[in-house]
Amino acid sequence: MPTITSSRPDSVRSTTAEQFAPVLRAHAELLHECAPIVDAPVARARIANGQVAFDAIRTVRTCGDLTSRFVRVLEAFQVAGFASNQDFQLLLTPEVDVDELVCGWLTGDRAPRDVRRGIARQAAIIVGNAILTVASQRVGAPSNWRRWTRPVCPCCGGAPDIAVQERGAHRTLICSRCDAPWRATRLDCLGCDVTEKTGITRINNPALGYDLVMCHSCGRFHKERRRRGMAALIVERALTVELDLAAEQRGLRI
Ligand SMILES: [Zn+2]
Ligand SMILES: [Zn+2]
Repeated sequence: MPTITSSRPDSVRSTTAEQFAPVLRAHAELLHECAPIVDAPVARARIANGQVAFDAIRTVRTCGDLTSRFVRVLEAFQVAGFASNQDFQLLLTPEVDVDELVCGWLTGDRAPRDVRRGIARQAAIIVGNAILTVASQRVGAPSNWRRWTRPVCPCCGGAPDIAVQERGAHRTLICSRCDAPWRATRLDCLGCDVTEKTGITRINNPALGYDLVMCHSCGRFHKERRRRGMAALIVERALTVELDLAAEQRGLRI
């Protein structure tokens, strides 16, 4: 994955978006093709009851074998220059289990230190994200969960990684797994009632256009920015990977 060095957020954003174009195309194809099974009325009734709409792992598995989709994303990584030909060949072995990689991501495994395993995990995340995004879209429009107050995704139960500051001062949370948006009901920390006055650390990163918001009380962090000028979420997450690492090194989680 590219490292960000420039200090101009807009040009960094457009350069990264250009670099990611093959990956965004592969992701768009996956969104178009995959067909996870979701019982929408049951899912909406669960949300109305305060329960998460569907089980993420079970829903991903309704799409069957993920290998061909994983290969397609790896090909896009190769075209984009994020993976070498050798990486590509070595990752297409039976030891690389896509289902295991996707489940590891969903159950909160840490990213592997090995670079090649890291590439495999990133490709698996793009496959898993596409499937869960479609699953959440099948639950319905975000208006179906406008009364949702929990700090986990109403659709898949994932944690939010990005908070978007909207006009009117409220914040929209974005699910780190399925990209579903919902409205934040707390003031500062997403997980507890600690505020900026009582223990939140907010570090502004003007080069990226983000605040890294960390709560040392409940151990959670998220990344926050304004709505205007946002790129595709894949690009935003790639741009801000260093913020995740900085927070994770402090022992925090999303
Ligand atoms: Zn979700
Ligand atoms: Zn907190």
